[in-house]
Amino acid sequence: MTDSQALVKTLDFQLDIQSDNESLLRDACLESRSVYNETIRLAKQGVDWDAIPDRVADDANLVKNTTQRVVAKALGAMENHYEYDDFGQPSHTKDGAYPLRANYEEGYNLSLTDDGDVAVRISAKPYKHVKGVLQGDDAHLDILKTAFESDEWNIGTAEALFHNGNAELHVNVTNTEQTVRDKQDSRTVVGVDVNEDNVALTALSEDGVEDTLVIDFPEIKFERHRYFTMRKRVQNVGKESIHDTLEGREERFVRDRLHKVSRHIVEWCRQFEKPCIVFEDLKEMRDSIDYGTRMNRRLHHLPFRALQYYTSYKASFEGIPTAWINPEYTSQRCPICGYTERANRNKKRFRCRSCGHQDHSDCGASVNIAVKGIENHQDWNVPALNSLPTVRKVRRQASGAVDAPTVTHPTVRGYQADGRVGVSD
Ligand SMILES: [Zn+2]
Repeated sequence: MTDSQALVKTLDFQLDIQSDNESLLRDACLESRSVYNETIRLAKQGVDWDAIPDRVADDANLVKNTTQRVVAKALGAMENHYEYDDFGQPSHTKDGAYPLRANYEEGYNLSLTDDGDVAVRISAKPYKHVKGVLQGDDAHLDILKTAFESDEWNIGTAEALFHNGNAELHVNVTNTEQTVRDKQDSRTVVGVDVNEDNVALTALSEDGVEDTLVIDFPEIKFERHRYFTMRKRVQNVGKESIHDTLEGREERFVRDRLHKVSRHIVEWCRQFEKPCIVFEDLKEMRDSIDYGTRMNRRLHHLPFRALQYYTSYKASFEGIPTAWINPEYTSQRCPICGYTERANRNKKRFRCRSCGHQDHSDCGASVNIAVKGIENHQDWNVPALNSLPTVRKVRRQASGAVDAPTVTHPTVRGYQADGRVGVSD
């Protein structure tokens, strides 16, 4: 119940293959599929699981310990099937590529290049290598580079795979010194409502609302619109390279700001007793019922998941757990009396049709998110709320943090470098 978890991260990268033998990696992923299929087939036949790795390895045209990793993953799928009856039995007849799972320094290796890139070498087949460079999110690259230098991190297994036809490498890293507290062992639950131009936070404990905060970031919305207009203009005159440059700048600007906002959120959460951060699980929304234009707008207007990810990631460095809830009705429910109707909300104003409660609507949404977080993940009761504190607003300005302290934990040293990409280049 109160077990803390090791801080394990899976870092996802695009794999820019530079050794001109991408087909070798494809072949290896197909071979990985046949290893998987053969393992499942033997397990279904009732062959002793301890005997399976050697039997499969003899026929596989892969590096031996890579074969063993794939076999172990297949047996893991079988074990899941037996433990949870409603899982379908794994298939041994599918075809197509399957992730090539490899041990660090055995099936694959990483190194830093003189340019500061991370180079990868995958032993796709015995004595045959695929070489390339990892590309992707700055946050992920920074952790990986930190892992090279720091004894605090272990680089673990990786999976090479094809996603939408593109090669990717997913690397597992473990922080050996830090742990993340079990989310069920929390005393304060912080609901985070992410919007196009702000993020609203409410901290709830058993005693009621501990504090609320709205962090405004209108410049992100403003800059995105500005870049959008500029990109359209150059696109219309056929200047694709300028278009791509602008897109890159916009992306760096937005990422940089989201990193700062996420750092601010985590810093604010640290003041509370045993905090747990709760987000809306936006991926549940797409296939779900009609959440109204507000939700649709939110989905398309800001990289919400990036902000959630950055926050969750930075929080884990502080040992703070993250939980996710279904976003249904979080913006329509009255945080005081619970009455739920879409008409309760009119843009930024919330007025309950039942009890008359009025408030900043994003703030009410963050209360509802915290309430769901308590209901779903804590064994203590949601406090009765008679009133909510006045909303405190903080605006972030283009020059950086107005009042936000910077998180300066030693392990985030490499990570702090996210400011190094200039925001006004
Ligand atoms: Zn009400």
